[in-house]
Amino acid sequence: MRKLIGFCIYVCLLFGFQSCNNNAAPVRVLLITDGRNQDKENFDILLNKLPIVYDHVEHPNAYAMLKADKIKNYDVVLLYDMPARIPEEARQDFIMILEKGKGLVVLHHAFGSFGNDSWPEYTKIVGGKYHRSSWMKNGVEQPPSSYRYDVTMLIRVEDLNHPITRGVTDFEIIDEGYYDTEILPTVHPLLSTDSKYSAPLVAWTNEYGNSRIVTFTLGHDKQAWENPMFIKVLSQAIMWAR
Ligand SMILES: [Zn+2]
Repeated sequence: MRKLIGFCIYVCLLFGFQSCNNNAAPVRVLLITDGRNQDKENFDILLNKLPIVYDHVEHPNAYAMLKADKIKNYDVVLLYDMPARIPEEARQDFIMILEKGKGLVVLHHAFGSFGNDSWPEYTKIVGGKYHRSSWMKNGVEQPPSSYRYDVTMLIRVEDLNHPITRGVTDFEIIDEGYYDTEILPTVHPLLSTDSKYSAPLVAWTNEYGNSRIVTFTLGHDKQAWENPMFIKVLSQAIMWAR
């Protein structure tokens, strides 16, 4: 009980007392990773700062958790994985949970999942695509998507009134940038940057099925994970998606 009270006080301090009235209960998160992140110690420190209780599953065991009898225990799926492929059965389960309204937060490299498979539905789900080869935009050929580590980016808040950006001010971050990526014009912009090593948007919301989806492409390593604004955006994204 003491732990729960401590948690509530923490949420109150982080999000203001308004959020304590109804949404103070921690979000039940299913975290999916694939072993790509080597800095587990600092990632755990980040996870412990979020308003969540979570179970963590790694590929290849992750897709079994999308089955109805398992996924019912979670409010939000947090993807921090980048598998090259997705089996047909998992595609159907993935779409099914979104039809049923499961919240989804797509963090950093999870934006680029399924690079060896053609699964156009994932582009519609996350609101864009990391292209492994050249691609066409309005009839003009675009270069393949690329990335660069340790980019200093000035991040601008695009929607000051959204629950995910509440209390967030423009901030600087050192992080990996993804650029020459495709972002669908139908997404709702949250955070932008004019860095040449990043796409113009680094955070947006999207809708698919009956689900609230947030794609947040920052978060490569502890330089981002320790940034207070990064933590705030990620926390509020998970709370909004629930
Ligand atoms: Zn990365």
